Amino acid sequence: MKILVINAGSSSLKYQLIGMETEEVLAKGTCERIGIAGGKLTHKAHGETFVVEKDLPDHTVAIELVLSELVDKKAGVIKSMDEIDAVGHRVVASGETFTKTTPVTDETMKALLPLSELAPLHNPAAILGINACRAVMPNKKMAMVFDTSFHSTMPAYAYLYGIDYDDYKNYQVRKYGFHGTSHKFVSQAAAEYLHKKPEELKIVTCHLGNGSSISAVKGGKCIDTSMGFTPLAGVPMGTRSGDIDVAALEFLCKKKGMTFAEGMEYLNKKCGMLGVSGISSDFRDLCAAAAEGNERAQLALDMFAYSCKKYVGAYMAALGGLDVIVFTAGVGENTPSVRAGVCEGLEAFGVKLDTKKNEFKNDGTVHEISAKDSKVKILVIPTNEELVIARETAALL
Ligand code: ADP
Repeated sequence: MKILVINAGSSSLKYQLIGMETEEVLAKGTCERIGIAGGKLTHKAHGETFVVEKDLPDHTVAIELVLSELVDKKAGVIKSMDEIDAVGHRVVASGETFTKTTPVTDETMKALLPLSELAPLHNPAAILGINACRAVMPNKKMAMVFDTSFHSTMPAYAYLYGIDYDDYKNYQVRKYGFHGTSHKFVSQAAAEYLHKKPEELKIVTCHLGNGSSISAVKGGKCIDTSMGFTPLAGVPMGTRSGDIDVAALEFLCKKKGMTFAEGMEYLNKKCGMLGVSGISSDFRDLCAAAAEGNERAQLALDMFAYSCKKYVGAYMAALGGLDVIVFTAGVGENTPSVRAGVCEGLEAFGVKLDTKKNEFKNDGTVHEISAKDSKVKILVIPTNEELVIARETAALL
């Protein structure tokens, strides 16, 4: 069985064709600058990279180009589109309308439309991607796989905000969480690595990238997560503030003469690591600056590790213990000093890092970085959101 995974952004589209028997990526690539002059497809297959430069006025043209590459004599990996058994689409927000992977039909597409309000930067792009695929492959089975579904098992006392319950009911304002496919993948991979059943484990998964979220996973199910109604909440991120007292935003809006919308833009794009350091949102830049003695870069890194550590501690309490901490995503997989900062001071709770093992060079495999006598296992697991989308799509079929 072959599954095509599509992750559509407003001006980009990433894809992977995955052979499900071996879970091998047969081909993958990205379309860039959709709807803008200077479109470009970068396609990787057979260990080679193929680049096609061509204007891509809309997502439908982009999908057509992807399919023509997939069946191309030189760059292709299949003889015809018939070899694609189904298409799995990444969709960010499901609201409370969908709690699991859902087939794409006229009816479900109609129900998806109003959810764009919950993720205005992401959901409309996913809809464009799905519509484009349906136009080009009208008879192909398709699924929508939501970033939020893994978090749908959170109990009400964890996902509710302390607001008027009627407002939650009327407007579905609550915590949804994000990065669900990643948290799901690494928590399952941790259980596999440890030769345990997911039901036996209490895990804290730290997806630390440009956007970061931390989840508590008990018996294979998410019971709490750090992001909220939107991906602004939780730990400070590349450019997002993370958790903040909303009264501080009102105060800042008054002081800086910002409208509420400008204030939200400020919290999403100018704060976090970038705002505190005044240098960059990128952890590589921050680590380099801190190593040269830049105090604000060090402060931003310290804030980040401290905030992550507090979530780990809170989730130990929520889980009633802890067996495994998993680090994943760009920062989690590549930045030893952040991992060390998160674990530091948790020794009393059975978390003991092996500082030498923590310095491993990322080779895309699982690394166990806890000390031999650590009660809690500490793992670094490369995430694979596309594979979760492919697995979910295959399972639905
Ligand atoms: P997102 O998917 O949220 O955009 P990523 O998971 O790709 O983000 O993480 C990006 C972050 O990871 C950046 O801050 C970057 O500095 C950091 N990072 C550190 N080392 C590496 C590396 N070797 N490769 C990629 N990202 C890295």
